[in-house]
Amino acid sequence: MNSSKKEVIKFAKMLNDTKLSALRSGNISIRSKNGFLITPSGQKYSSLKEKDIIFINLNGEYNKKQRPSSEWRFHQDIYISKKNAKAIVHSHSTNATALSTHNKKIPPFHYMVALAGGTDIKCAKYATYGTRELSKNILKALKNRSACLIANHGQIAFGRSLEDAFELAEEVDNLAKQYIKALVLGRPKLLSLNEMKKVLSKSKTYKRG
Ligand code: 13P
Ligand code: ZN
Repeated sequence: MNSSKKEVIKFAKMLNDTKLSALRSGNISIRSKNGFLITPSGQKYSSLKEKDIIFINLNGEYNKKQRPSSEWRFHQDIYISKKNAKAIVHSHSTNATALSTHNKKIPPFHYMVALAGGTDIKCAKYATYGTRELSKNILKALKNRSACLIANHGQIAFGRSLEDAFELAEEVDNLAKQYIKALVLGRPKLLSLNEMKKVLSKSKTYKRG
């Protein structure tokens, strides 16, 4: 089996197994020469076979007999604009999705927010799923970041590998869960910009094994 397709299938199944994204929600892709490989639209992850994984080139062209994820446009735009994006995980993870319905960013209530590359994790403005408009909103929220929430929808994370992107997606959901809990007690104390800058420069050399 093509090893990249195998990876996509493995992590797509993990969306369900780890409960990161329920049922048929979410989608996964990996960069490939001049394009990317992506999960099909609306197919149960447990039934995925190599032939179901679709190649789309960076111009958005693919075999029209196949039905790629409805969100292939934002995967395409991320691969075009972020050279360091080698893999993307989009999920409707419970906590990130709950928070996204408030259309609010995750502020620096915890230093781990820096994992997404900045002092906060932004929330992309709502637009209908599968549209170029949604993709534009996501790119805005991903400026200098490798993850964001998507309003009334879920979250997206990218990384140097699928493992990386998947782990970041899990971290984002965990941060969303902690933030929601913190809000129950009122408004949490936030870290200063200065402190977050220190964390961001430390995390550049922090080895994650
Ligand atoms: P697809 O099955 O078309 O990838 O759609 C799932 C999804 O999460 C849409 O935002
Ligand atoms: Zn979605």
